[in-house]
Amino acid sequence: MVSDEQIKDINRLIDPSLLLQKIDFHYDKIQEDEYGILGYCPLHGDHIIKTLAIDKKKKTFRCRYTLCPGFHGGSMIDFWAVYKDISREKAAHELVQLFQLPVALPSRKKQLKKVIIQAEKALENNELHIAREHIKKALEYDPENARAHKIKAMIDYEENATTKFYSQLAKIKEISEDKKESTQILDLLSQISEGKEPSIKTTHKKLEILESIGNQEHVLSELFSLASLYHSNNFLDKALVLYNTIIKYDPTNLEAKDAIAQLLPEAENQQAAVDLFLKLYESHMNSNNIEAALQDLQEVLSLQPTNGMAYEELSNLYVSLGNSKKACQIRLDYAQILYEQNNIADALTYAADSLKLDPDNEEVYLFLAKLYLENNLSSAKANHYYLMAGKIFMKKNNYSRALKYLEKLSPDAKENTSSLKALIKAYIHLKKEDYAVFYSLKLVDRSVAENKLEKADVILRNIVSIFPDNNILKEKYFEFKKMYRSDS
Ligand SMILES: [Zn+2]
Repeated sequence: MVSDEQIKDINRLIDPSLLLQKIDFHYDKIQEDEYGILGYCPLHGDHIIKTLAIDKKKKTFRCRYTLCPGFHGGSMIDFWAVYKDISREKAAHELVQLFQLPVALPSRKKQLKKVIIQAEKALENNELHIAREHIKKALEYDPENARAHKIKAMIDYEENATTKFYSQLAKIKEISEDKKESTQILDLLSQISEGKEPSIKTTHKKLEILESIGNQEHVLSELFSLASLYHSNNFLDKALVLYNTIIKYDPTNLEAKDAIAQLLPEAENQQAAVDLFLKLYESHMNSNNIEAALQDLQEVLSLQPTNGMAYEELSNLYVSLGNSKKACQIRLDYAQILYEQNNIADALTYAADSLKLDPDNEEVYLFLAKLYLENNLSSAKANHYYLMAGKIFMKKNNYSRALKYLEKLSPDAKENTSSLKALIKAYIHLKKEDYAVFYSLKLVDRSVAENKLEKADVILRNIVSIFPDNNILKEKYFEFKKMYRSDS
């Protein structure tokens, strides 16, 4: 800092005539005597009227022209400052240099360093106003000082002066050797966050800046720190949305995936975790990430195995993926849960509906049969579903399982044509001759009783061809032919 005393000394030591000579603006036309000088004014560049007057004793000047920057006059240092359009401080330094004046001024470099450090300290203490004052001085010493401009940018940033901040960035870019804007900004941002607890607000601001320069990699890493911040501040749903945004941009981001896995169990209660997954599910559906959406619903169900909505959504999702078998299985799972909850009516509706998705799902038939039977609702329906299950097992070549359920048919039910056919088929395949013959004869009797002789004949011949050595059959066939041959 140049002291007032030093300013006075410098001013006293300056020879105004020599100063004008240095400037050399119509110097040959000045009028000078022992008291003063009159000349053309270099400050506003007048070539017609001599408006500049200098008092050689007081070492002051003024210009009579009202629009001249020197109209208000001042010391010789001020004259130089106005002429060069620099600060008084800098003018003092320049004049000492120019005329080799015997005044010991502190070195400008040292001065500059000192005010920058003061500015940094003030910034650190969040005394932004003071920091700004110091930086103003620093820039007077050296208007192109990159470090000072960075501090100025940081002050603008802290004061939320976005426009100023951006013009500072432009300035830093202009004066730095590396002209890459994003490098400059990243460097600055890392300085801004250095040694500071990041806040959600500042991270948001940084994110905006990074987005504005289109640096996706850094946007993602900033997003991650913002998400972590939400996470640690227990804004779990906000954190979750951000982690997912990251995964959306970068599906291979394991860090974000891990974070989600950690975040969920932290939800205060199970319902909160479920809500988080449902939110996640929604966002995955919106971004058409079906695989992830499926995963979310499965997570919901592992947390809350009775969540009907999740079953419903999961089933619908599989239908839309063209996997109606899986969709049916999911509906059956839910029907079983409804049943466990004693909601028999809904369990029935749900299970019966699921058959539309996969009419070959034997599990559904068995479930329905069990349900009708255990609750004494309708033995006819129970029989119907056991028969259906048996038929499906046979369709899938599992005859022993088929038989297991066909044997569950009530004695009445076993008398009907459809059941008899199924039983015969199963016993034949399992090579249980006695039973196959027994039920075949029942079917024959039934057909005869209904006067369907041709049908009875076909059945008999068929079973005889399979078991040609069976005596009961041989006898029956002989009898049948004896009785009906003449009629046919
Ligand atoms: Zn003037």
